[in-house]
Amino acid sequence: MKLFLDFDGVIADTVKAVCELYREDYLLYNKYKDISPDEIDTWDFEELFFLTRHTLRNYFNTGRFFDALDVIPSFEPQFIEQLGEMYDLKICTIGDSPNIKGKKIWLSNNLTDIQCYELTSLCGEDKSTVDMSGGIIVDDNSNNLRTSNADIKICYGEEKGWNRDWTGLRCKDWKELMEILGELCRYTKEG
Ligand SMILES: [Mg+2]
Repeated sequence: MKLFLDFDGVIADTVKAVCELYREDYLLYNKYKDISPDEIDTWDFEELFFLTRHTLRNYFNTGRFFDALDVIPSFEPQFIEQLGEMYDLKICTIGDSPNIKGKKIWLSNNLTDIQCYELTSLCGEDKSTVDMSGGIIVDDNSNNLRTSNADIKICYGEEKGWNRDWTGLRCKDWKELMEILGELCRYTKEG
């Protein structure tokens, strides 16, 4: 069974990295206010007063974004190996070409085994161009979940502005996600 795993907000702590870059760049400005990643509730980081959409998009294409990028706190690199044994694992992510290049390097530096997954990279608004039929999608953005043709859709992470409307299956951290994916794997093998 195919498993399509999101990158930003599922494997990598993208919100935290953006907040760090914003602090570096605007700390000395009069209207600067320290915002913690937990306070971010909008997809375009509207909480960060000085950050324009243009600057935000550029952040994702810089080396220093990837330098600031950590894994999600509950994530452990061996999960990718374990999922690679259970599923046909694909990491499916949207980004400009420098962002995708950065993600490839970051993944090879932060995950134990690069061979156990394939990276599906996309441009555009959602992941509907990828045929996920018969598979599972894990994503923190409800729009990606809604527009996907995957059979099973799991919303990852805390409730945020970009997924609050999701009424389907949810998991709050990697512990819960691994339990759900383990169960699904056993169930589909038995069935
Ligand atoms: Mg995401």
